[in-house]
Amino acid sequence: MKQTSIFTVCLVLIIGFLLSACQGQSPLSFLRPTETPLPPTATAPLAPTATVTVTPTITPTFAPTATVTPSKMTIPAGSVTAPILLYHHVSTNSDTQDSRYNIPPEKFEEQMKWLFDNGYQTITISELADLIYEGGEIPQRPVVITFDDGNIDNYNNAFPILKKYGFVATFYIVQIYMNGRDMISTDQVKDLIKNGWEIGSHSKTHESLPSVSEELLPEEIRMSKINLEEKLGVPINSFAYPYGEINENVVRLTSRYGYKSAVGLGESITHTMQSIFYLQRIEIENDFSMETFISKLPWSGPIQ
Ligand SMILES: [Zn+2]
Repeated sequence: MKQTSIFTVCLVLIIGFLLSACQGQSPLSFLRPTETPLPPTATAPLAPTATVTVTPTITPTFAPTATVTPSKMTIPAGSVTAPILLYHHVSTNSDTQDSRYNIPPEKFEEQMKWLFDNGYQTITISELADLIYEGGEIPQRPVVITFDDGNIDNYNNAFPILKKYGFVATFYIVQIYMNGRDMISTDQVKDLIKNGWEIGSHSKTHESLPSVSEELLPEEIRMSKINLEEKLGVPINSFAYPYGEINENVVRLTSRYGYKSAVGLGESITHTMQSIFYLQRIEIENDFSMETFISKLPWSGPIQ
């Protein structure tokens, strides 16, 4: 009787073993610590031996990369905190090299790399303005990079560096400078637009607007917008005051002529409805050390 029952137990075990093997599942499969389901499109190769042999690769080699990509957050309308940086030249040209308004390309790259390494993501000025008006999704560490005037070195030197880090910028162009000597061409501006850049107006002639006559102000503010829109085929929604100089009338006309925002100079990084027609931009100057550059920025180190 005892022998029979032992025999029966053995028989049941063997049948069980064979049945589970037939179902394509190894009876030793519980030894594999990480059974990750295959994606539905992947077809698992039917290897008959695999059901009996335990695979020696039990340590998962996949490392999560989620912490590398900075996440976004949603904010209400009314206020946005983001530094807006202002550049003019990014050049090795001897004419501009020593100018306070020039950043050598290597230094510019060092600054962009720091922003990238510290989790900053670029937004355009109109994205920032829309967030003030309506709220919405914003990177955890947003930064707006702007260029003034329309210098060709911005296209030749700054654009490739920004592209390398997945950054975009907002370019304020003086209407009559476009296609001029050492200035950006219409086609080059269109190329920037294709690459996600925003274009704004920096007036028609770059005169300080408080000293422009009442009759000529519409030319500088309104007609420069219309002219750039016709040439480039995109809406021009933002205006940069030449030299950051304004008076009440200049601001009033800018808001009346169809712009959604305007930018000037200053150190503030928090922008509201009260400042939407004079968003402050931090001018990055030639003699800034990396420490000075970093001191202008609100966030550094790993994102929490
Ligand atoms: Zn300017």
